[in-house]
Amino acid sequence: MSIIIDGKAISKRIRESIKRKVDECKMNGLIPNLSVVLVGEDPASKVYARNKQKACKEVGIKSTVVKLEENTSEQELLEIIYRLNQDNTIHGILVQLPLPNHIDEKRIINAIDLSKDVDGFHPMHSGMLMNGQAILEPCTPKGIIRLIEETKQNIEGKNAVVIGRSNIVGKPVAIMLLQKNATVTIAHSRTENLAKLASTADILVVAIGKPRFIDRNYVKEGAIVIDVGITSVNGALVGDVDFDDVKEKAGYITPVPGGVGPMTITMLLENTLIAAKGAI
Ligand code: NAP
Repeated sequence: MSIIIDGKAISKRIRESIKRKVDECKMNGLIPNLSVVLVGEDPASKVYARNKQKACKEVGIKSTVVKLEENTSEQELLEIIYRLNQDNTIHGILVQLPLPNHIDEKRIINAIDLSKDVDGFHPMHSGMLMNGQAILEPCTPKGIIRLIEETKQNIEGKNAVVIGRSNIVGKPVAIMLLQKNATVTIAHSRTENLAKLASTADILVVAIGKPRFIDRNYVKEGAIVIDVGITSVNGALVGDVDFDDVKEKAGYITPVPGGVGPMTITMLLENTLIAAKGAI
């Protein structure tokens, strides 16, 4: 039977510490400030933006959501980013993805001032992560590493398998695990014998977006299993891991919801604080 890695409780503890640091900043006249840019009416994006704003409020970070029409042009959006880049009272800029199809996401992300890119998606940040010089690390991978560290199990020397190779989750988390001296394999949709490979992992991170895809056959006895996936199924959020099947075999497991999700937002708060303090 697994120990559940309670992302909600861990987040709560980290947020309390962030709140204390934000209070200190405020006593010194610095009000950490995050600007969330939301384009269009995508219901999930609206919920994510609202949750981020709520979390900011909880720790005393000022936040505003810049709401833009679905038909906002790429040029108009770029001009808004340039304005936010120039505004010295704003420390973090986050553009809620996905953007409407007529806007080139990469161009928008690249336009965000490096020191305000609290999502850590700018290619310069990816490069710094690769070199072991990251300051603003991408929020989900950063949260995943914290969750693994919470188990107090060694990462060094362990076999880690990351399933999924996206730029925002799979690749960066693999780099981070490598920097912690795990032996890392990245798997994806073309990987052969995935179950055989995954079941060699002491640490298994799954970020594929396929509800309950990973059952006990993919899991080594006693492994740490981190479920990043979130898919809405009949109105409920479902992970990539078949929790009920895997929990009997894994040593540690994250639930969905209440695992990686809250940690992602918590790491966003932490990154906003880092950006506000001008550490970069
Ligand atoms: P993505 O960009 O769609 O990437 C999915 C990855 O999974 C791809 O690399 C794909 O391989 C791989 N894949 C898909 N089907 C597979 C299969 N059957 N076997 C092996 N690999 C497979 O997704 P993402 O942005 O990384 O997100 C992944 C999931 O995490 C989604 O459910 C997303 O909602 C969730 N997510 C959660 C959080 C959070 O805060 N909890 C944050 C970000 C994402 P190919 O490259 O070969 O296509």
